[in-house]
Amino acid sequence: MDIIVLSPGTKREAINRVVRRLKKWGLQAHVSRGAERTIVGVIGDTSKITEDEENSVRAIEGVEDVIRILKPFKLASREFKRQTSIINVKGKRIGGKKIVVMAGPCSVEGRDMLLDIAGKISKAGASFIRGGAFKPRTSPYAFQGLGEEGLKYLAEVREKTGMPVVTELMDPRDIDLIEKYADVIQIGARNMQNFRLLLEVGMSKKPVLLKRGLAATIKDWLMAAEYIMSKGNLKVILCERGIRTFETATRNTLDLSAVPVLREMTHLPIVIDPSHAVGKWSLVESMAKAAVAAGADGLMIEVHEHPEEAFSDGEQSLKPSVFKKMMTDLKPIARAVGRTI
Ligand code: PEP
Ligand code: MN
Repeated sequence: MDIIVLSPGTKREAINRVVRRLKKWGLQAHVSRGAERTIVGVIGDTSKITEDEENSVRAIEGVEDVIRILKPFKLASREFKRQTSIINVKGKRIGGKKIVVMAGPCSVEGRDMLLDIAGKISKAGASFIRGGAFKPRTSPYAFQGLGEEGLKYLAEVREKTGMPVVTELMDPRDIDLIEKYADVIQIGARNMQNFRLLLEVGMSKKPVLLKRGLAATIKDWLMAAEYIMSKGNLKVILCERGIRTFETATRNTLDLSAVPVLREMTHLPIVIDPSHAVGKWSLVESMAKAAVAAGADGLMIEVHEHPEEAFSDGEQSLKPSVFKKMMTDLKPIARAVGRTI
């Protein structure tokens, strides 16, 4: 028993009766009232619910159907929610008709550079600022990020431009700090299966951008989303950022087929990050266009004023002028697939 469907017009008291019954069994309920029907999503391990117990729920007034989802991921599945989820972040809707663009440097390197880039990308049409204050670097000797100082600069950008902040959390011990400054918590590719971290953000009220692991299958990825959702946070955004293959001409291989595959499997919104996928700035625009054509709900793009001097990922960063041109060139493609950007 994973979803309980209630007939239209079911009274609050009847819904509460269902919720109370679930609580008695140690389960949580997520109620979504739609125009046509009200759905109660059951959060928790439902495998021990017996047939008799399931039938007792069926007998509650207003209950039309009780559905078991056979997939290992439940809350993330399309069966749980037919409509694509729209995640509203300070008025910016991720998963709606407008494709959202999250842009900014790989790392927050300083106040001036961040404010400068932010002003330019905002003017060019980006709606979120991205930037790492805690960086997952391959080498322990490489720049690790500015920490709280960087988060403060990101918050200042939000004040000045209105762009909500997307920034990475690497360690559960930093959650309070990240929550204080971020609007969307990014979980990086290297941490996609850091289950302790996933459970931690599952208890947060902030939306989570979950990047696909370097060698994760789509099922692994959706199970990681399920970890977050199992704690009650249903605001998960999936971000494809390229996977490891035998090909070395690009940093990773962008799995664009993930977009239509995920559309069938999940209601969660999908963002494509072509920057980390290709690893080379000259290839970013083509893949951003392809991502829009494939139906992505958002893009994540790395931008730096002086890519050759960037502390991290300079090779894949667009200059603001190139970003601006790309944003213009994406418009007709978005229009062709019934979207705006
Ligand atoms: C990033 O967004 O800068 C980043 C480190 O991404 P990923 O986790 O996809 O490598
Ligand atoms: Mn980066």
